[in-house]
Amino acid sequence: MTEPENQTGKNMPYSPFFEDNSSRVESRRAIFSDQRRKARVRRKALVSLLILAFLALLISGTIVFLLERGAVGIPDVVGMSFSSAKRTLEELHLKVKASPGDEGSERTGRFYVVKQTPSPGRKVKRGALVILHLLNAVAENTKNRGPEKGKGNSSRRENPGVSKPRQYFDINKAVKHVTYLASTIGYREQGTPAEERAAEYIATELRNLGYTVEFQAPIPIPATGKVTRNVIAELKGTQRKERVIVVGAHIDSKGGPGANDNATGCAAVLELARVLKENMRHVPTIRFVFFGAEEFPSGVGGDNHHFGSRYYVKTLSDSERGKIAGMVSVDMVGAGANFYANSMGISKQILRDYFLEFGGKFGLVPRKDPGWSDHEPFEKARIPSVWIEFTGGNPYHSPEDNILSVNWSNVSKAGSLLQDFFEYYLTPERVDAL
Ligand SMILES: [Zn+2]
Repeated sequence: MTEPENQTGKNMPYSPFFEDNSSRVESRRAIFSDQRRKARVRRKALVSLLILAFLALLISGTIVFLLERGAVGIPDVVGMSFSSAKRTLEELHLKVKASPGDEGSERTGRFYVVKQTPSPGRKVKRGALVILHLLNAVAENTKNRGPEKGKGNSSRRENPGVSKPRQYFDINKAVKHVTYLASTIGYREQGTPAEERAAEYIATELRNLGYTVEFQAPIPIPATGKVTRNVIAELKGTQRKERVIVVGAHIDSKGGPGANDNATGCAAVLELARVLKENMRHVPTIRFVFFGAEEFPSGVGGDNHHFGSRYYVKTLSDSERGKIAGMVSVDMVGAGANFYANSMGISKQILRDYFLEFGGKFGLVPRKDPGWSDHEPFEKARIPSVWIEFTGGNPYHSPEDNILSVNWSNVSKAGSLLQDFFEYYLTPERVDAL
């Protein structure tokens, strides 16, 4: 039999499948071209992806570089408690959703993120916060370049150290102070070595922050024959240097370790002293006074209290007294659901009203009190005064007033409110009106 010739003319062995081979080649070609097309698509996708990743890296790298160089300022909300961040962002007309109880902050890598108290059904996405930080950085940058910058009567503060990150009230530092005062020292009855140790601790902390510390001592406690002392440190004003606002907290405790009453107040004022000094955005001179012997001595009643603060006011010269534009007592800011701006109603109420205007949307409400804290002698001396306090169901003047009774989000809220009050709200014009 004759062997058939193949298409090239070469002799090929007979194959019963020969007739099918051409269509197989066609279909293989089709398959190959299909695979090539798919490979092209894959390559294109990969290249696009690489370009996108490169662009993302470039953009984020540029932002981080600018932040680190201070070219756009470190975002104002970095390191803030959520409520402060929310307030700041709202001031910059940036909206942020939040619910009560989002307090405290924690450092994670480059950015601080909000540490949430457990609240079912609510989550603050970290990514969203980072975007808010960046938006805020841009807003801050615009603000710093705004026409207001450098004007003496501007309602905003210039930040002289743009490359230096703004410091925010750090609840962890406050926790450390409360723990030392209420647990390491414990019961700090007035006129005792424990009260003196607490005063020494506060003085050391202030010195570590760079303050010059003055002791006002010995202050007599006539009811007991003992003595106490006030611890004083001053931060010169950035403007209106000649006007002084006294921010006070009492050191002593009564009937227990006084975690809430008043290690929380001391801790909040110490931490305030740190952030205001770091940032230098405050306006008037701030004098931090830690008073001894605010409480009634055990077994003593009548009018025998506020020994440190009364002595302080009594020993002011007329000109010194004239410089004091206002007094804020920070006494018990660690427990309870009611947030009060207390006053006796006998001096000008303007400082209390400032606090209500600024703090009202955060639940701060007015209350008239008979003078149960260190604002009493100041108010009686007709100095505009206010007592910032949390209360409602919390133990005080008892052994149960220990660190377990402290709600740290209260301390954080009070501390952040104080910081923002001085750094944002209390403008030179408002100081002039005091
Ligand atoms: Zn107290």
